[in-house]
Amino acid sequence: MFEMDNSLSKRNTPDKKFPKAVQTKESLVKNEGLQLNEKLIESGIRYRRLFETAKDGILILDFETGNIVDANPFIVRLIGFPLNEILGKKLWEIGLFSNKEESELAFAELKKNGYIRFEDMPIQNRNGKITEVEFISNVYLENKTKIIQCNIRDITERIKTEIALRKSEQDLKEQNTEYADLNTEYLALNEKLTKSINRIQHINNDLIIAKEKAEESDKLKSAFLSNMSHEIRTPMNAIIGFSEFLLHPGLTNDKLERYVQIIKASSQQLLSVINDIMDISKLEAGQFSVDSELVNINKLMNELFVTYKKIVGNKKIILIYSPDKPNELIQVNTDGIRIRQIICNLLNNAIKFTKEGEIRFGYTIQGNFLEFYVSDSGIGITPENLALIFQSFRQVEGTRENLNEGNGLGLSISKALVEKLGGTITVYSEPGKGSRFVFTIPYWHVTDDRITTTPKTDEYSWDNKTVLIVEDDLNNHSYIKELLSHTKARTIHAWDGKQAFELVKTHPEISLILMDLKMPVMDGYESMRLIKQIKPGLPVIAQTAYSNTDPRQKAMDGGFDNYLIKPIDRVLLMEVINNYLSNNFRAVPIHLEN
Ligand code: ADP
Repeated sequence: MFEMDNSLSKRNTPDKKFPKAVQTKESLVKNEGLQLNEKLIESGIRYRRLFETAKDGILILDFETGNIVDANPFIVRLIGFPLNEILGKKLWEIGLFSNKEESELAFAELKKNGYIRFEDMPIQNRNGKITEVEFISNVYLENKTKIIQCNIRDITERIKTEIALRKSEQDLKEQNTEYADLNTEYLALNEKLTKSINRIQHINNDLIIAKEKAEESDKLKSAFLSNMSHEIRTPMNAIIGFSEFLLHPGLTNDKLERYVQIIKASSQQLLSVINDIMDISKLEAGQFSVDSELVNINKLMNELFVTYKKIVGNKKIILIYSPDKPNELIQVNTDGIRIRQIICNLLNNAIKFTKEGEIRFGYTIQGNFLEFYVSDSGIGITPENLALIFQSFRQVEGTRENLNEGNGLGLSISKALVEKLGGTITVYSEPGKGSRFVFTIPYWHVTDDRITTTPKTDEYSWDNKTVLIVEDDLNNHSYIKELLSHTKARTIHAWDGKQAFELVKTHPEISLILMDLKMPVMDGYESMRLIKQIKPGLPVIAQTAYSNTDPRQKAMDGGFDNYLIKPIDRVLLMEVINNYLSNNFRAVPIHLEN
């Protein structure tokens, strides 16, 4: 172990007790030499102190041999050999290199480059303990002699820190990976959430639209109800009012006829409102069905022409009917009543919206379709309203002087009917110039000779025929009896289905039966089935009232030959009866279960 030589420093410290002597040139030179020497000694001591107290190991080697010539206390402690066992040894002998070759290789490189450095070198101490060190070796010139200085730094702590650092880096990385996984999961969740939000937004939008529609529909329905109330009250007022007038004593024939006409027209108006309400209710309930029967188109259109000519008679309107093939028998398998209803709706509108001018209607054959049209030179419809007018309860504001005239159902019912019949309806219109409504129905050329003979007028003559009227309501019975009286047909009356059956048995001359459905004792269905058992060829025609289930369908399914809807249309009643009595239509026996 080196010891610091304090005597040297003491010896060279100037003695402050003695006064400075007078100095000659020689003494000055001598003094300077002494001072330099003292300084050298001082710096030697200083460096020795640094060597002794350094926190790195320092070894001084002989440049030529590589033997250790000096070692500081730090390296002595590190390698565990006493200084005397270190001095004169080679580095590998004190555990600084693992073997001689390695040590010599390093020594040779050092000699060549004057410098070597091992960043991380394991050294083994006397007890076999391994310490990681940083080893730096330099060649210095000392008093013209080369020496080697090795600096050995214990880097155990640094390595520990590095390991800890690496570990925390690794942890961080792992955490990051975890976060990355979480991130991917989060992104996926986010995407799902965005999709859900979009879906909710869509649903929300749909709900808003549905809500607006419901509000709109509510508004329309309220308007419809107030219109309906007006539509029903107006004819009702006339009917009630003029019926009371009829009871006035001393009423002239002229007045009587006028009042009856008003009551009749108002009843018709009322009936058409009720029919519209029934139709739209059935359409909305999805219970609407149409019939299929052979319809003579020219006949139907001619009848409409006759009827509407009378209606426009006192207006400034010219009604023109132009059929495609007036002299041919155009027959279509369709629902004649519904076709008539659609054309009536269109003609009524044309009249309503044409103050003066021209209304044309007719049909053309377009391949497998019959195309009906009704055009007018009236007020027309704006393009934005064209799309709306087929919706229920829609009336275009400001199109007429009295908006309450009509209920806004005609066109929506017509559209639904046309579609049920297998066709389409379109409108072309120009405001101020007029409108043209066109609708189609499927057309197959039918050659059926059953409808070839049609009477020119409704003056039927059935003088050798007997009709059984089965009716529990006296007024209805009287009405039908009155109608048939002009035809010279004989009528028999039965109050219920059972009586009807008995009468059929005893009156073989009965040619046709008009059968009410709802009756006491025995209803119309039961009675018809019994009658058909004994007289399958006897036509039985049902008289049905409008109800929620389709009365016609029910009647036809039940086995009746035909049906008439109450209140009975006079023209239709005559037509139907005539078709059976003149054998145009034949009664069909029904399939009976027993
Ligand atoms: P309404 O009973 O009100 O006539 P519709 O459903 O038949 O009901 O018609 C709906 C609306 O379409 C009418 O209120 C009217 O504004 C318009 N419209 C229908 N036909 C015509 C026409 N020929 N000319 C002008 N506008 C018409």
